[in-house]
Amino acid sequence: MSSLYENLRQLITVVDELRDVGLSRYISLPRIAAIGTQSSGKSSLIESIVGLDFLPRGGGVVTRRPLELRLVHLNTQEFQEDQAWAVFENIGDKKYTNFDDVRKEIERQTDAVAGTNKGIVNDPIVLTVYATGAPDLTLIDLPGVTRVPLKGSDQVEDIEKITRDMTLHYIKDPRTIILAVIPANQDMSVSDALQLARQVDPQGIRSIGVITKIDIMDQGTDAVKMLRGEDIPLRLGYVGVKMRNQQDISTSKPVKISLKEEREWFESHRLYSKLPPGLVGMDTLTGKLTTILFKHIRRFLPEIKKEINEKRRLTFLGLLPTRAGADSAKV
Ligand code: GDP
Ligand code: MG
Repeated sequence: MSSLYENLRQLITVVDELRDVGLSRYISLPRIAAIGTQSSGKSSLIESIVGLDFLPRGGGVVTRRPLELRLVHLNTQEFQEDQAWAVFENIGDKKYTNFDDVRKEIERQTDAVAGTNKGIVNDPIVLTVYATGAPDLTLIDLPGVTRVPLKGSDQVEDIEKITRDMTLHYIKDPRTIILAVIPANQDMSVSDALQLARQVDPQGIRSIGVITKIDIMDQGTDAVKMLRGEDIPLRLGYVGVKMRNQQDISTSKPVKISLKEEREWFESHRLYSKLPPGLVGMDTLTGKLTTILFKHIRRFLPEIKKEINEKRRLTFLGLLPTRAGADSAKV
């Protein structure tokens, strides 16, 4: 499981305890959405964060419907460690335990609604993944911003407006953490991701810049200035990542191996190994996300405490039945 899971273990325990005492309604964990241009690495990023291989990705227009990925934590007292399955909202109770089949089903549902001719449709696929190592969290994988319809495709003339509106629809919710995906081999000033993020989050309080494809920049160029935010400052900063290339995808390289390779690549890099901490690597990014999620929960703590105290008082007065475990929520 990815390090986001490891980091969030403590948080998961708190949320589980709150659920046990009937207080989970106070904790709606935020959503994380990856936004940006076509083929910038959004699907790859969502997979790396989740630590499972299950999304269609690759060159060209691959993600053609939004995917709402709901992660649901399974209690380890009830379920075996490392158990995971997926359920599609529109296919009833069928449990997918093989994640290759999940990818095939996403592809099938994409073709069924958006056609096989590169069409893009704003009708989300809703997928729930249950796993013992998962935090309760929703991740959104979006079709990228597309400027011009591809010749001979089903893409309509106003494809740019459609893809922009689709992105805005998801990121305007103030609970959504925005991962603005920017490929390192493009100029930042033309980034769709940064432009859209700014539109809904002008102060930059919930947008993280993610610089992808840092391994395939032009010879003689590097991402140091970008990573330091010298050109376009962003309050939560930028993180550079190196994910799987097309060949790795074709040869089915597992996400775990690619994370290990990424660490080694940055550690041995002439420039990036000398940067101050907190600017590169998936581990850094999941660390940042964890901090943001903890802050989010902390915002709700006063309300939760109030509710617990009220329950205690009513129980004491004999107006509520005593509930085992009601005192165990350490908030
Ligand atoms: P999306 O359209 O934004 O969802 O992009 P994908 O995740 O589908 O990736 C598009 C292509 O870029 C795929 O062929 C990936 O293998 C490749 N890719 C993504 N991230 C990286 C990276 O960090 N380095 C390299 N070399 N290739 C990458
Ligand atoms: Mg994609």
